[in-house]
Amino acid sequence: MIAPQVRELVFARLDGAPVELEAGQWVTLLLPLEGPADLPPPAAMRRSYSIASPPRGTPEIEIAVTLVEGGAGSTWLHRMEIGQTLLVQGPQGFFVRGKGVGKPALLVGTGTGVTPLRSLLHDAIARGDTNPLVLLFGVRTQADLLYAAELAGLAAAHPHVRFEPTLSRADEAWTGRRGYVQHHVAELWKELRGASEAEPADVHVYICGLNRMVGSVRELLRGELGATREQVHSERYD
Ligand SMILES: Cc1cc2nc3c(=O)[nH]c(=O)nc-3n(C[C@H](O)[C@H](O)[C@H](O)COP(=O)(O)OP(=O)(O)OC[C@H]3O[C@@H](n4cnc5c(N)ncnc54)[C@H](O)[C@@H]3O)c2cc1C
Repeated sequence: MIAPQVRELVFARLDGAPVELEAGQWVTLLLPLEGPADLPPPAAMRRSYSIASPPRGTPEIEIAVTLVEGGAGSTWLHRMEIGQTLLVQGPQGFFVRGKGVGKPALLVGTGTGVTPLRSLLHDAIARGDTNPLVLLFGVRTQADLLYAAELAGLAAAHPHVRFEPTLSRADEAWTGRRGYVQHHVAELWKELRGASEAEPADVHVYICGLNRMVGSVRELLRGELGATREQVHSERYD
C-alpha cells in the first residue's frame, strides 16, 4: 500500500523480454472474473491502468490502483496475491510528451492520476531534458500523497523540476498549497510562460485523473488562459 486506498503492483513479463513503452502510456489487464455471459470462456473483465514506471528496458512495469468502493476490478487487484499471473495488453495510448518534447511542462494530476506523470518526469530527467517541469499533484490529505518522498527528492536533486502538492482536506500543520488543483493552474501556467507577453514560452500541459477535474482544468486552459489545443494533453480515468 503506498497510500491508504492505493496499492502498487509490479508485474514482470514471464518471458523476461523488456516491456517496450513510451512514458505516459497504459496497459489493459484481463482480470479473471466472470464477464458477460455471451463472451467465450475464459471471460475476463478488462480494466486499464497507467504505467507508473518510466521506460527502462526491463521486463517490469509498475501500476498503482485506487480501491474504488464496490468496484469489482480494483477490489480484485487489491486482493491479488504475489506470484499470480495475468494477461496484459499494451502498452498503448497517446498521453505521451508528443509535440511537448523538449519544452517546459506543467503536469497536473489527482490521486492515481499522478502515475503517468511520474513516468513522464523520470523519463524527461533520464533524457537530460532541462526545461522547467512543474508537477501539480492534488489529493485530499497528506497520507494520500503517493510517491511524495520520491517526487520531492526528484525536485531537490534537479533545479528545473518542481513538486507542488496541494491538499483539499489539509490539517492545520500543512504549510503547502491548499484546495483543488484547479485553483493553482493559472498561477503556474503564467509562471512557466514567462514574463514576455510578446513571446511566451510554448508550455505543454499534461492532465490526468477523473473526468470532472480533467474537464475543468482543460476548460480553464483553453478558455481564460488561451492555451491551444496542441498544448493541452489529457487522460481521463472515468
Ligand atoms: C486510460 C485509463 C487509465 C487508467 N489508469 C488508472 C490507474 O493508473 N489507477 C487507477 O486506480 N485507475 C485507473 N483507471 C481506472 C480503472 O481502469 C478502473 O476504472 C478503476 O480501477 C475502477 O474499476 P472497478 O472495476 O474497480 O470499478 P467500476 O465498477 O468499473 O467503476 C466504478 C467507478 O469508479 C470510478 N473510478 C474509476 N477510477 C477511479 C479512480 N482511480 N479513483 C476513484 N474512482 C475511480 C468511476 O467513476 C467508475 O465509474 C484508468 C482508466 C483509464 C481509462
